[in-house]
Amino acid sequence: MADPRPPAPPRPCPICRKPATPRDRPFCSPRCAEIDLGRWFRENYRIPTAEQDGGDKDGPDDDMTG
Ligand SMILES: [Zn+2]
Repeated sequence: MADPRPPAPPRPCPICRKPATPRDRPFCSPRCAEIDLGRWFRENYRIPTAEQDGGDKDGPDDDMTG
């Protein structure tokens, strides 16, 4: 029995949206793979830090005793 469903189309390259090749998937070429790797690396480099305000007059301060 043959599968009536058509073969799934190749996913587009996340970099340039070109049809990816089975050799370099999910990219269309080693070039795009390198670009993606570079992006990932740069994003991973920066550490997400919570916004910290150096304000001393902010928030509940229990220093008004006495
Ligand atoms: Zn590409």
